[in-house]
Amino acid sequence: MIKNPAVILIDVQNDFFTGPLKTKRVPAIIQPLQRLLVASHKNSVPVIYSIDAHYPQDVEVTRKWGTHAIKGTVGAEVIPELAPDKADYVVEKRTYSGFYETGLDPLLRSLYGGDGVKTVVLGGVHTNMCIRHTSADAFFRGYYIVIVEDGVEAFTEKDHKEGLKYLEYVYNAKVMATNEIIQEIVK
Ligand code: ZN
Repeated sequence: MIKNPAVILIDVQNDFFTGPLKTKRVPAIIQPLQRLLVASHKNSVPVIYSIDAHYPQDVEVTRKWGTHAIKGTVGAEVIPELAPDKADYVVEKRTYSGFYETGLDPLLRSLYGGDGVKTVVLGGVHTNMCIRHTSADAFFRGYYIVIVEDGVEAFTEKDHKEGLKYLEYVYNAKVMATNEIIQEIVK
């Protein structure tokens, strides 16, 4: 049973799928996430896009990954296949964590008539980086964590598998297939 879920899609943006940080591995997550979005919308599960909107001077850009997902550019737009609906929420971030100095936490607490989201269902990229750091901050704030097993990816198989193990071990995340999650959120 997944209580008061919100689906959070992380960094599902052009620069991670077709731009400078693309990998051959990521297209595989599109179709499962599309199915999850359809089911979420149908069952009134809130959908939140937690996406990079970098300034060129951000540490991630200057010290680590180079130019990617710069606020206002095409590279920072959500990929067309997973484009947000009108009712979805978009919360911009400037680091690996969707919570770090963003409005994500107050948004989650305001949903379900003020009862708040209890479980974050995380999809997107990358398993061992933004998914991991967002999971950490979700755990610290008391949220339950579900990871969409076929809806997250990383640069390598090793990164991905180790990433999933870490999430399960450290944050007690539940790794579930898209179909399993859909069954649970259908009312
Ligand atoms: Zn970034």
